[in-house]
Amino acid sequence: MTPIALARGARSLRGQRMVGWPFLSIATGNRPFPPMSCSGHSTSTIGSPLGESHICDVCIVGGGTVGTALACALASSPAASSLKVALVEAGDLYRPLNAQEGIYSNRVSSLTQGTVGLLQEPFPERPQDLQVWERIEASRRLPYKKMQVWDAIGKGKIGFDAATIGADYIAYIVENNHLQAALVERLQEAENSVSVFNRAKVQSIMTEEGKGTTGWPIVQLEDGRTIQSRLLVGADGANSKVRTFAGIDSIGWDYSQMGVVATLKLAPGVENDTAWQRFLPTGPIALLPLNNGHSSLVWSITPTLASRVCSLPEAEFVELLNAACSSPWADVQYLCAQISPDGKPLVDFKEESTWGRQREAAYDPSSQPIPPQVVGVQTGSRAAFPLRLRNSEFYVKSRVALIGDAAHTVHPLAGQGLNLGLADAESLAQSITDGLQVGQDIGHIHLLEKYAQSRYLPNLAMMKAIDSIGRLFGTDLGPVAALRSFGLNLTNSLSPVKAQIMRYAGRSLI
Ligand SMILES: Cc1cc2nc3c(=O)[nH]c(=O)nc-3n(C[C@H](O)[C@H](O)[C@H](O)COP(=O)(O)OP(=O)(O)OC[C@H]3O[C@@H](n4cnc5c(N)ncnc54)[C@H](O)[C@@H]3O)c2cc1C
Repeated sequence: MTPIALARGARSLRGQRMVGWPFLSIATGNRPFPPMSCSGHSTSTIGSPLGESHICDVCIVGGGTVGTALACALASSPAASSLKVALVEAGDLYRPLNAQEGIYSNRVSSLTQGTVGLLQEPFPERPQDLQVWERIEASRRLPYKKMQVWDAIGKGKIGFDAATIGADYIAYIVENNHLQAALVERLQEAENSVSVFNRAKVQSIMTEEGKGTTGWPIVQLEDGRTIQSRLLVGADGANSKVRTFAGIDSIGWDYSQMGVVATLKLAPGVENDTAWQRFLPTGPIALLPLNNGHSSLVWSITPTLASRVCSLPEAEFVELLNAACSSPWADVQYLCAQISPDGKPLVDFKEESTWGRQREAAYDPSSQPIPPQVVGVQTGSRAAFPLRLRNSEFYVKSRVALIGDAAHTVHPLAGQGLNLGLADAESLAQSITDGLQVGQDIGHIHLLEKYAQSRYLPNLAMMKAIDSIGRLFGTDLGPVAALRSFGLNLTNSLSPVKAQIMRYAGRSLI
């Protein structure tokens, strides 16, 4: 049977049997599907097992951090307890965590105070808060208290200290897979039902035949199952199928840069409570603290250099990083040019970078911050991701909402992408529960527009700020470099301005 034929069947059943808004009750439905379902209930089902047709209130495509967070928020909210929610993820949400001591994932996120608040226990006025923070092992979430940002060209630098705004920390560094595992654990314990379609890839999406824009979207999985929903949420990342289905344009550009990530071992004896970011004309390099012996690298460079750097022998890679963090820009450029296309070093990196650092120190030891020395890289932890800026023309259409990277992607230089996405999830959950309380159709554009209004402008403002910083530092032109050094040093001397910047970047939930 084709999906459309199944949908026809579903529609007539829905018309006859639905009792009580917004709950769906179907005579043939409510069959539990233990392997898919986190909690006791599942979506309503009709059809043969191979071509099963499910019907639910909210279908979330994409069980990345943002999609899973939305499922958790809906599963925890008393107001949304009657909703049937489906979460569809192509990957494996139940993949065991490799939590070996001293071994870290190369994908980490800097989580702002606003996000940490959202992940903690709920306040009475925010019942949908996620209650996952304590589930992340304390040793895998590190608060950093200081941040040093400086310019490789000129002498501009700025330092932030949480104490200046009376805070305990600026942000936390958490491995993405640990946050994700905590969300999945929470989902399994949540009171309300969420049906999880694990390792299930969406192949295509269509609308109920003959219903125009008011029709319910129908998601077809690669294994033939279909899910029809009152509201379809796209949390399926930058190349969102849901966004394409909704005909929503995504506006922006590629940075022609890759973000090279890796887990780094540091020289012993350093209290690692600072995030370091040095702006090179080719893009920033950041060391994010994981614990006293390890930091996580995010280095934005050209795709050609990224592929060479990822193939460099480990010892030379470490030398190159130390140079990129503290040697004069000309020396970094020189070393980068001394890597063959297949990642072989063409000069003695150790000798060259030691010489560069000594020269810098002799020149003016106080002119630049001194990040901890990198002494090793976790084998197999190097990887590169394309960097781009994109914002969807709209975040919502009738019966469709986009959240997280499906709605927008930003350069990682300010560590905001996931923070913005989690704020989207929180805001959409809030709009849905508000709408339910006054009996609104949760797929209706009027309800969804409340979500879009609360997130579009704040996201756009943050995206513009991040893009402007990238552009400002992306040139080594003398006058521009001199001006920005002046600006950085001036800002560094103005404590109230710095406090304002910290508060803005730390909130995210605007
Ligand atoms: C190098 C780097 C460093 C970063 N650092 C930070 C940081 O410090 N702080 C921060 O806030 N952000 C950071 N970000 C951004 C952050 O990683 C992303 O914004 C965030 O992971 C997006 O989450 P998401 O759930 O929206 O999308 P994704 O993580 O892309 O998840 C989408 C999910 O949808 C699933 N999916 C896709 N298509 C289908 C389909 N057809 N069927 C079923 N499932 C599907 C995928 O399997 C995936 O699980 C960084 C990004 C990069 C590249």
